[in-house]
Amino acid sequence: ETPLIEVKGLKKSFSVKKGFLGTTKHLRAVDGISFAIRKGETFSLVGESGCGKSTTGRLVTRLLEPNDGEVWFKGQNISHISDNQMRPLRKDMQMVFQDPYASLNPRMKVKDLVAEPLLIHTKLSTKERDKLACELLETVGLSSFHAERFAHEFSGGQRQRIGIARALSVRPSLIVADEPVSALDVSIQSQVLNLLQDLQEEYGLTYLFISHDLSVVEHISDRIGVMYLGSLVETADKDTLYDRPLHPYTQALLSSVPVPDPSLKKERIILKGDLPSPVDPPTGCRFHTRCPSCMGICKQHEPVFREVEPGHEVACHLFDEEMLKLER
Ligand code: SF4
Ligand code: MG
Repeated sequence: ETPLIEVKGLKKSFSVKKGFLGTTKHLRAVDGISFAIRKGETFSLVGESGCGKSTTGRLVTRLLEPNDGEVWFKGQNISHISDNQMRPLRKDMQMVFQDPYASLNPRMKVKDLVAEPLLIHTKLSTKERDKLACELLETVGLSSFHAERFAHEFSGGQRQRIGIARALSVRPSLIVADEPVSALDVSIQSQVLNLLQDLQEEYGLTYLFISHDLSVVEHISDRIGVMYLGSLVETADKDTLYDRPLHPYTQALLSSVPVPDPSLKKERIILKGDLPSPVDPPTGCRFHTRCPSCMGICKQHEPVFREVEPGHEVACHLFDEEMLKLER
């Protein structure tokens, strides 16, 4: 079966001015990543802020155009298609953002916020849009009584429900959710995550879920990709990643995730040093400056992202026999 989304060797860099003389440098935000998302699946991208997750979300939905590599949506290469060609696809891929405060216009009534994508993408009448907006509010656990009110009258969790209703209004196949619960209290987070899961089942949605927090994505994900400095370092199905993480960076991230039974808690791995700048990433393995298992070869050779068991990919020399021979 053709994946809903397929990303191959995707790259995006931005020009940045550095220092007093303002020399232009390239910030390699996304530096050659590949993954696929099957229909109905939740694929999560996880990593520290600045690792390229959000840029990836914007490349997948073609809000950004890649410098290199390809994005395929429903078997069509959309990497460089025009805005005109993109327009009918926009409806089919919607985004939910972290901060509903910032992404919702405070001067618009809730019914108009929810129905705005319908106004853009359909020819429905105002009356039809209002009716759908009320239904959508019920679908996301709010009430049609809320339709005439303004976004600022709602709590953070309610606003995120409004954002989700809005994304859902045009019945997309794909929703890219960029840190959708990061601004919310933990108790509210699980309510919103449960809602997203219910909606996925009801509408057959596919999610690209972006988060800096591995504990947030545990319950919602089918598969997870871990990113570091613009690269994918490990991809696996959820259970494999939590039970048998291979990449030292994944192991470090997981060691700080709270577990319900403290006797099962593994020792916390504290990474040395700061996150290097994506403008000047380290040579060889870009994680080598912080890796507890760093070897001599790691400073010179960039590890290849490869499958080490079915469905489990990792970019680390520890799992590459040929490279280990070089080290010995
Ligand atoms: Fe660590 Fe080397 Fe593996 Fe990079 S390649 S993660 S530095 S062991
Ligand atoms: Mg981000």
